[in-house]
Amino acid sequence: MAGGNAIRGTRVGAGPMGEAERGEAAPRRRVLFWCAQGHETHVAFASDAEVPDLWDCPRCGLPAGQDQSAPPPAPRTEPYKTHLAYVRERRSDADGDALLEEALAKLRARRGA
Ligand SMILES: [Zn+2]
Repeated sequence: MAGGNAIRGTRVGAGPMGEAERGEAAPRRRVLFWCAQGHETHVAFASDAEVPDLWDCPRCGLPAGQDQSAPPPAPRTEPYKTHLAYVRERRSDADGDALLEEALAKLRARRGA
């Protein structure tokens, strides 16, 4: 006839053993990373884990390093964008459609042969 009282007295995760484990079993150290835009990122590593030189900034995606005064430079994406813009400038949508049609026609011809 134990009933509800026994169940109510038991809580998962509580108790002396649980507390001790949570506090000390996995010591961690916090490492700071800075990206080129000055975002500060705190990352917790297990004490026996290897801390990487670079960490992706969760706010802007740039690589972040542990030296605040000399963050890793942002990777260059300008040339690619500029090239794309250049291509867009030169080719109108109509030209694009024509090129696509041409390519598809060739493909069909090759497949049909
Ligand atoms: Zn950032």
